[in-house]
Amino acid sequence: MANIIDGKAVSAQVKENIKAEAAELKAKGIEIGLAVVIVGDDPASQVYVRNKEKACEYVGFNSYKYALPAETTEEELLALVDKLNNDDNVDGILVQLPLPKHLDDKLIINNIRPDKDVDAFHPVNVGKIMIGDYSFLPCTPAGVMELIHSTGVVVSGKKCVVVGRSNIVGKPMAMLLLHESGTVTICHSKTQDLKEVCSQADILVAAVGRPKMITADYVKEGAVVIDVGMDRDENGKLCGDVDFEDCKEKAGYITPVPGGVGPMTIAMLMKNTLTAGKLHKGV
Ligand code: NAP
Repeated sequence: MANIIDGKAVSAQVKENIKAEAAELKAKGIEIGLAVVIVGDDPASQVYVRNKEKACEYVGFNSYKYALPAETTEEELLALVDKLNNDDNVDGILVQLPLPKHLDDKLIINNIRPDKDVDAFHPVNVGKIMIGDYSFLPCTPAGVMELIHSTGVVVSGKKCVVVGRSNIVGKPMAMLLLHESGTVTICHSKTQDLKEVCSQADILVAAVGRPKMITADYVKEGAVVIDVGMDRDENGKLCGDVDFEDCKEKAGYITPVPGGVGPMTIAMLMKNTLTAGKLHKGV
């Protein structure tokens, strides 16, 4: 039976450390602020934004929520981003994606000041990740690295396979494993012999978006298996890309869904916001 990686516990520890640091800064008169912008009334986005506000409250950051109507124009949204870019109380800016269809996600993200881009989606931050000279890491891949570290397994020299090549998960994930000297293979929908490739991985990260696709025959005995997927099974129940029940005997370490990668994403957002605040306040 694999060791189950407890994302709730790891994320709680990350948040405790941030909370302690935020309290120390507050005692010196330094406050950290995160602005969260949401456009429209997508129910999933509303939940994510609420959770981000709660996390800010928990760690002791100020959060500024801007809830804009679905019909907001690009000019109006850009004007808000510009205002937040120039607001000294705001250390981090997060525009909740996806935006309504008439708004261009890329244009909006590209207008956030890179040193306030706590999602690390701005091309400047993406480029910095590529060359290994970064302030912020994208939250989900950074959370995965924390989970791998929590196992005590050292990435250096290991065969790492990432299934998925999206800009927000797969690609930066591969880069972070590479920075720690893993030997990284990136797989996608055109990969041939996927099962064979995955079954050689010491560290396997699934970021596919296909419920329970990774079964035990994709997994090497004793491997670290990280499931980024947030999918729905045939009964509408939340599940991951990994068939947990099938893989749990074979893996050495495995993340559950829910309770694995999910809780890490917001914890890493808080970490990026703290980093941004310290940068701005010269700490
Ligand atoms: P995405 O943009 O849809 O990318 C999916 C990737 O999987 C693509 O690169 C695609 O290949 C690849 N793929 C699809 N079917 C495949 C197959 N049969 N075999 C091999 N590769 C295949 O998804 P994403 O945004 O990266 O998200 C991936 C999953 O992570 C989703 O379930 C999402 O909900 C979840 N997620 C979770 C968190 C979290 O906080 N826990 C955060 C972000 C995302 P091609 O490029 O060839 O199409």
